[in-house]
Amino acid sequence: MRYISTRGRIDSISFREAVIMGLATDGGLLLPESIPTVSTGELKSWAKLSYSELAFKVMSLFITDIKAGDLQGLVGRSYTAFDHPEITPVVKKGNIYILELFHGPTLAFKDVALQFLGNVFEYLLLESGHKMNILGATSGDTGSAAIYGVRGKKNINIFILHPYKRVSPIQELQMTTVTDANVFNIAIKGTFDDGQAIVKAIFNDIPFKETHSLGAINSINWARVLAQIVYYFYAYFRVREETGREEISFAVPTGNFGDIFAGHIARRMMGKGFHRLVLATNENNILTRFINTGDYSIGKVVPTISPSMDIQVASNFERYLYYFYSEDAERVRAAMKSFSKNGHLKFTKKEQSLVRKDFAGQSVDQSATLKTIRSFYEETGYILDPHTAVGVRAGLDLREPDVPMVCLATAHPAKFGEAVSQALGREPELPPGLQGLAEREARCEVLEADIDVIRDYLHKNAI
Ligand SMILES: *Cc1c(COP(=O)(O)O)cnc(C)c1O
Repeated sequence: MRYISTRGRIDSISFREAVIMGLATDGGLLLPESIPTVSTGELKSWAKLSYSELAFKVMSLFITDIKAGDLQGLVGRSYTAFDHPEITPVVKKGNIYILELFHGPTLAFKDVALQFLGNVFEYLLLESGHKMNILGATSGDTGSAAIYGVRGKKNINIFILHPYKRVSPIQELQMTTVTDANVFNIAIKGTFDDGQAIVKAIFNDIPFKETHSLGAINSINWARVLAQIVYYFYAYFRVREETGREEISFAVPTGNFGDIFAGHIARRMMGKGFHRLVLATNENNILTRFINTGDYSIGKVVPTISPSMDIQVASNFERYLYYFYSEDAERVRAAMKSFSKNGHLKFTKKEQSLVRKDFAGQSVDQSATLKTIRSFYEETGYILDPHTAVGVRAGLDLREPDVPMVCLATAHPAKFGEAVSQALGREPELPPGLQGLAEREARCEVLEADIDVIRDYLHKNAI
């Protein structure tokens, strides 16, 4: 399998090169040159596989330049730090299935991809003898999951920008209490979008990127999307087995469009099986506006109780656009250029109806989120974190009779105890992994949200 750029100006590259490149050198995003299809026979024979076995099968279709035995080892190692034998179990609560993606070391779904990516990086760097400086911006969860993915690994330093005092106290501690020498936490005085813009700009500075062997670990890295495809298959098999239904819908709490894009690919691989993909946002609703009114225009970032979704520019959206524009890279290029100039893209009525074939969208505000946490707890005894609650609200509202709805549970409620406490009047119990964090030693640098300041800091601390 070879990889290409959404903007069409690079020669095709291998999976290994795609992982190391992160963002394509022409400013686009990397994608496989074709989407492999999964046959009915495979859909049958894969149904009983364990999570790791299934991950190996799915990933093998996209990774053809790592030996099978090595890939198996990488996948196996990536899921040993999970505290549930099923890795991503599915539980039924009331009228909805919850796909629990928070059993990894930082209790959010990003561990599923970043434990894998950390191992892939280490594997490739050990083979080549190269070094890498990972640079990423986080709105909270990616950062800690990335840090846990590579902490203590050889030949890698990691630099993570988070918006100063705009992540939850636990998210902040999860990042800053990792004091391995290869981990650099940077709190910038700005928003997540500022951090993301700085990271993008630094990656676009090709000489700097090459001098410091910069690598990406945020949601633009293809390997992350790939790892996330797996659990759609896993959940599909569990729910199909339980209900006997061949068609299933998914609701996805969405920020950067990474998770739901993985769902879009899973659906295309299966060719059938997915009834509806529901994209759920909080008040930062650029994506639901896109789906419902064809208006993809940047608004101001509104801080909410689901901070990992407080995003206006969804970095993975361009990948969807590439398929939406029938793989016409020049058109994507022109659209992204116009978007970065004008801050919006418009879609015709006809295009809008095509989008709505792919997704249903719903924006869920703070009061509806809190209400959902409360009512869901009263009805089922299950505590939702605020991100998952956004997905559950949209999933329940857009559910059709006779089609099972699965909502992706993207974080453990204890990570967002304050919001849960607003809804229920008490904080959820901390799982063992989060106890005693506040007492640990912490390390973090507070810097201006300024590209030169960040570049200088990187230059001084790069491996
Ligand atoms: C990152 C994150 C999201 C959003 O996922 P995207 O892939 O950026 O759309 C939702 N919920 C939680 C808890 C997250 O950490």
